[in-house]
Amino acid sequence: MVFIDTGYHFPETLDTVELVRKRYGLNLRMMTVPHHDEELWKVDPENCCSAVKVGQLDRALQGKLAWMSGLRRSEAETRKATPIVGRDIRGLVKVNPIANWSDEDVAGYIADHDVPVNPLLLKGYLSIGCEPCTELPTDPNDPRSGRWSGRDKTECGIHEF
Ligand code: SF4
Repeated sequence: MVFIDTGYHFPETLDTVELVRKRYGLNLRMMTVPHHDEELWKVDPENCCSAVKVGQLDRALQGKLAWMSGLRRSEAETRKATPIVGRDIRGLVKVNPIANWSDEDVAGYIADHDVPVNPLLLKGYLSIGCEPCTELPTDPNDPRSGRWSGRDKTECGIHEF
């Protein structure tokens, strides 16, 4: 299990990671980011995501043949064609086991299994990434509308096919 610690996460997110790690006894590898330009997200978010997120995922996947993620089709237009099993941009097998789950499926699973969630969800944040690039959704029908608000950017690049 891998978590990419960009250095920009909300404290609530890091607390949730720790809670989940303890709850499930996870063998969790924290990918911490080497020192980088603190303002890069302001001036060049594309390169910030590349260096901070995608670069760390590349590092985590070195020597691996396959990986899994919780990507879902209903999260965004850009994710509508997410396959259950496919290949990523590196040629690795990528499994998205809950790609066809609806928001209701997720909420039901959380309730049935008492899954810990990020408390920011209860404050209206429906998609949570790095703090400088995450706001409350501006469009109630688009959970990711608070991400990189005011920019063309909609994805960080780690789920590129
Ligand atoms: S989401 Fe923002 S702060 Fe996080 S890596 Fe991307 S540009 Fe940088």
